[in-house]
Amino acid sequence: MANVSVMTPGHAHWGEFIARLSESRTCLQTTEQARALLEEWAEVDVEQSLRALRDLGGYCDCEIVNGVGGSHWDPALWVDP
Ligand SMILES: [Zn+2]
Repeated sequence: MANVSVMTPGHAHWGEFIARLSESRTCLQTTEQARALLEEWAEVDVEQSLRALRDLGGYCDCEIVNGVGGSHWDPALWVDP
């Protein structure tokens, strides 16, 4: 079975996903960086995951890390273009 899991809190790779997304330090006010990461996991349904993350308040990369991930992201370290 391929493309069956949805990347939301609780997913086996959630911590890794948030950690890697937070490394980018740049939010383009899109979810393109999140999408690029999600595409690396063959079993993850990218579109469904992005929809689920939006439902949780993750409308862009930094909101996914900060709002949905509840990480220790420091907004001062991020750059808004
Ligand atoms: Zn953002």
